[in-house]
Amino acid sequence: MFAVIIVILIIWASMWVFYKFMYPRAPKSMMPKAGDITTPRQCNFCGNRLAEYRGVLETLQTTPSLADNSDSVIKTNQDLFFCNYEHQADFHAGKTYGADD
Ligand SMILES: [Zn+2]
Repeated sequence: MFAVIIVILIIWASMWVFYKFMYPRAPKSMMPKAGDITTPRQCNFCGNRLAEYRGVLETLQTTPSLADNSDSVIKTNQDLFFCNYEHQADFHAGKTYGADD
């Protein structure tokens, strides 16, 4: 009976070490800083959701003169949000996500 408990403890300890090694703490630069907005937002290009401070927020100053490409994504008259600058560029280039080639 005692052996069972010891084995469980050994497995627990080795798993703890394993996970510590496999999933190290994210670097400080990726953690939200004070003043960062952590509400999840959806990318206007690919539809991926991520915290607002991790992506690119684009505020519309003028009414976009883009012809309607309503087939791409949800269009709002507010700001646009993207995962990265690449998605922002592709969105404005009129590309559709996943249709690269
Ligand atoms: Zn995206």
